[in-house]
Amino acid sequence: MGTEEEYVPGFGTHVEGSGIYATLVGEKVVDQDRKVSIKPAALVPALMGRGSIVVGVIDEIFEPVALVRVADIKGGERRRTHNEYYCVLHASRVRNGFVKTIRTEVRIGDIIRAIVDDVDNGETYLSTKGNEYGVIRAFCSRCRHGMDQKGSRVVCPKCGSAETRKIAEGYGSA
Ligand SMILES: [Zn+2]
Repeated sequence: MGTEEEYVPGFGTHVEGSGIYATLVGEKVVDQDRKVSIKPAALVPALMGRGSIVVGVIDEIFEPVALVRVADIKGGERRRTHNEYYCVLHASRVRNGFVKTIRTEVRIGDIIRAIVDDVDNGETYLSTKGNEYGVIRAFCSRCRHGMDQKGSRVVCPKCGSAETRKIAEGYGSA
């Protein structure tokens, strides 16, 4: 992050030799006294409450849950952050009605629009119930190419693969 000549070590840092290193994952912050500290990524979800709208990328899927990497928050007022953090989308919160496997609804790499349903114990739970929420950009699970909406499905223009998604209204325009 820098040296002791440049900065005073602060929260979330440690000194090794003459260098200052981050001990936490988060955003580097330097104050007017040249104190360098880390604003932990885990604190960011405190900005979000029930009803905040987020756009994120499906990063991992562990049935019945998808981990969503969120980098952009739209709430009552628009907020942006350069931090990234993870929210949880559970199969039961994908759509109204039973979802057997979350892979029929979202795939790794897809971009989704979702609403914060609950914040509990440091975890942020998203919901994509409602027409306006769901996948706004799908990527082919075979060849990773962007997919086009065809009715209630998405089709890959490159390899022809047809897949299912929980598609948001305005798919592809966001
Ligand atoms: Zn494809």
